[in-house]
Amino acid sequence: MSENLNPFAIAQAQLDAAAEILQLDPQMHAFLREPMREFHFSIPVHMDDGHVEIFKGFRVQYNDARGPAKGGIRFHPDETIDTVRALAAWMTWKTAVVDLPLGGGKGGVICNPREMSQGELERLSRAFMRNIARYVGITQDVPAPDVNTNAQIMSWMVDEYEVLMGHREPGVITGKPMELGGSAGRPPATAMGGIFTIREAARLIGLPLEGATCAIQGYGNVGSFAHKLATEVLGMKVVAVSDEFGGIYNSQGLDYDSVFAHVKSTGRVPGYPGAESVTNSDLLELEVDVLIPGAIENQITGQNADRIKARILAELANGPTTPEADEILAAKNIYIIPDFLCNAGGVTVSYFEMVQNAQQFYWDEGMINDRLDRKMTTAFHAVHNMAQSKKVSNRVAAYLVAVDRVARAVRWRGWV
Ligand code: GLU
Repeated sequence: MSENLNPFAIAQAQLDAAAEILQLDPQMHAFLREPMREFHFSIPVHMDDGHVEIFKGFRVQYNDARGPAKGGIRFHPDETIDTVRALAAWMTWKTAVVDLPLGGGKGGVICNPREMSQGELERLSRAFMRNIARYVGITQDVPAPDVNTNAQIMSWMVDEYEVLMGHREPGVITGKPMELGGSAGRPPATAMGGIFTIREAARLIGLPLEGATCAIQGYGNVGSFAHKLATEVLGMKVVAVSDEFGGIYNSQGLDYDSVFAHVKSTGRVPGYPGAESVTNSDLLELEVDVLIPGAIENQITGQNADRIKARILAELANGPTTPEADEILAAKNIYIIPDFLCNAGGVTVSYFEMVQNAQQFYWDEGMINDRLDRKMTTAFHAVHNMAQSKKVSNRVAAYLVAVDRVARAVRWRGWV
């Protein structure tokens, strides 16, 4: 039978495994298996050539027992409601595992931003916000950037919201530029959080990181900052990076500044001079100390898991590894830092952004990174200790920590 790669089926299967170990009562389990609320929108946008294009958009508020729903908005041609449901579920477990007073949500629009002008993107972003405006807000649901969305898109959205409401309310969206109430340290935050967890994992397994080799899949906000920080903070040698068009490899290491300049000017990773080309699947199978999938889901599957050779698998993407791959990886000596723990740095600094917006008082980057380090390190050890004490994988352990916290909040509220 071929592997089921529906991300929501995967998210539910992961929850089921945790529910069994936690002996969650069946009603609680059933409640946590489904989103609490979801919105489907049909969004007409006037395109530059004069025709009207109808886009499909979604916002899923998976669970808000611990606080307002929180999570990004993706613009992607392959977006589906089930992808958004899965990502919203993972946001719920993510905010819980780092113990933020937030729930989980996610949004998505089926579109290809690479084929859209800035004007078209602005009209789509504003229209998306007009559709969700009455269901989001600092006490309800707070969106943020994700795959193919950025500070400019957040700016258009916050502006649309504030115009509609007739007052300033920067905390309704995070990942804003500093000029509109964004936080210092937010752009590198997802990668930085992952770097702290890699540091802790390397200490545990006795791997010296200075000069250790690293391969990174994805060169968007997360992957490119991972390249920079793996080099600058941990002293690692990044030998391979890639994007959706393909990858590059150099055993001597790839210089961050020149690769970043190349990607900025050409719009893609391949074609960088002074490196061999590798495919995305070759990159995952390289013999490196640390492998960072930093792009999209379902990259490590039953098909290629037995060829993964890294010592640490740091999942900066959401859902890069399937359950079938997990079973295969379990038999290998690979330390896995599961996605919703490894990539929780982004939402953690988003939370700091909300706090700063609420108090109208802003912190410097040093303060942000210290607090981020504390949050990530505490969460990392909570998960590691749970894995040791229950003799389960780190992924199952992360679920045990997170699901238990969400279930307790649901119970206190008397919902189930
Ligand atoms: N999109 C990021 C994530 O998947 C950040 C979400 C947020 O900041 O709300 O974790």
